[in-house]
Amino acid sequence: MRIGHGWDLHRLEEGRPLILGGVLVPSPRGAVGHSDADVVLHALMDALLGASALGEIGGFFPDTDPKWRGADSSLLCGEVVARVAAAGFRIVNVDLTLILETPRMVPHRESIRLKVASLLGLEKNYVGLKTKSSEGLGEIGKGLAVACHAVVLLDSR
Ligand SMILES: [Zn+2]
Repeated sequence: MRIGHGWDLHRLEEGRPLILGGVLVPSPRGAVGHSDADVVLHALMDALLGASALGEIGGFFPDTDPKWRGADSSLLCGEVVARVAAAGFRIVNVDLTLILETPRMVPHRESIRLKVASLLGLEKNYVGLKTKSSEGLGEIGKGLAVACHAVVLLDSR
């Protein structure tokens, strides 16, 4: 068994799309980044790469490479899942903690779990997702940033 942890944070700005776990969430503010700035999938990919000791997403998809500008993180995640499988691992479960102030995530939680499960080839009940606020404190609390923690468990095939 292998365990992995990933973390990511992106700034939020007016007029940008907010994509979380491959799902477009209606919001006046969205995440800023070189790719589609999907904080959930970025944390998840780093957890997968960490558990399999394959590296980190910055090494696979460097933000200095114009190839990844505006990239769909779902496609990048598919690439990481393929690498993890090629290294001889099976994904057992994932646990995600998303931290942002607004919008309320409860209406979107199930669709994000479903999307993440489909990207990983898992049943939805192997994908945990908690959504927390930052109680108005710090940059996340002011609605200026979004962060996500991810933990994954891998098993050898
Ligand atoms: Zn990121």
